[in-house]
Amino acid sequence: MKNKVLSIKHLKKNYHDKKGEIKALEDINFDVYDKEFISIVGPSGCGKSTILSILSMLEKKSGGMFNFSENFTVGYMLQQDSLFFWRTILDNCLIGLEVTGKLNKESKQYVLNLLKTYGLYEFKDKYPSSLSGGMRQRVALIRTLAIKPDILLLDEPMSALDYQSRLAISDDIYKIIKNEGKTAIMVTHDIAEAISMSDRIIVLTKRPAKVKKIYDINLTNKSTPISNRKCKEFSTYYDTIWRDLDVHI
Ligand code: ADP
Ligand code: MG
Repeated sequence: MKNKVLSIKHLKKNYHDKKGEIKALEDINFDVYDKEFISIVGPSGCGKSTILSILSMLEKKSGGMFNFSENFTVGYMLQQDSLFFWRTILDNCLIGLEVTGKLNKESKQYVLNLLKTYGLYEFKDKYPSSLSGGMRQRVALIRTLAIKPDILLLDEPMSALDYQSRLAISDDIYKIIKNEGKTAIMVTHDIAEAISMSDRIIVLTKRPAKVKKIYDINLTNKSTPISNRKCKEFSTYYDTIWRDLDVHI
């Protein structure tokens, strides 16, 4: 039996600014199970990032509810890598532990081990500017993992990268998340990226967002994101979701 770790029911969000009210989320409903990789896709500006902001408590919901399993902790990885240029790679990775008062010998060793495992150890004393965009995203992921979250929220983690790097880093990020046994919710506007990485895809309508469709992604010989793109079911999922995102929704 799959273990439910997050339940979202009738989640609603209205923003208020000088121009008035913006209805971002109308009615969002879905569950997430342990170690699942979920992608949220939808038209630009429909409210995808808003869902992650609410789940990570950066924004308040306007209605509905969401429930994580007891003691479930959340790690949020932003769209831009947002590393501090004046801190070394290691010091960037330790920041979450510092601000939560959890930096000690063991937690630092955990981060050093992550850097070793994922090929960044030799760069630990370097600064972000000397790393490629893909490497910086891996550092950002390790920084997020440092606090040992149970679930990772990823907001378009590859969108700032060129196409080649995006493919490579999607494999890296996927492997790290699977190796570390994490549950993940990733927001993306890239349908191929979503199909190649996810167990399920939540398709949203345009703003104010509702859940339009939920797809279980079943690929024959499913393995890493890059090779998943060659599975025979891939193009059917792509065409179907592409039609879901049509402007007429
Ligand atoms: P997406 O990530 O799908 O592109 P967002 O969740 O960022 O969309 O935004 C959804 C809508 O809410 C957009 O119209 C956006 O302009 C608006 N919005 C997002 N954040 C704020 C905010 N802090 N204040 C006012 N409006 C916002
Ligand atoms: Mg967004």
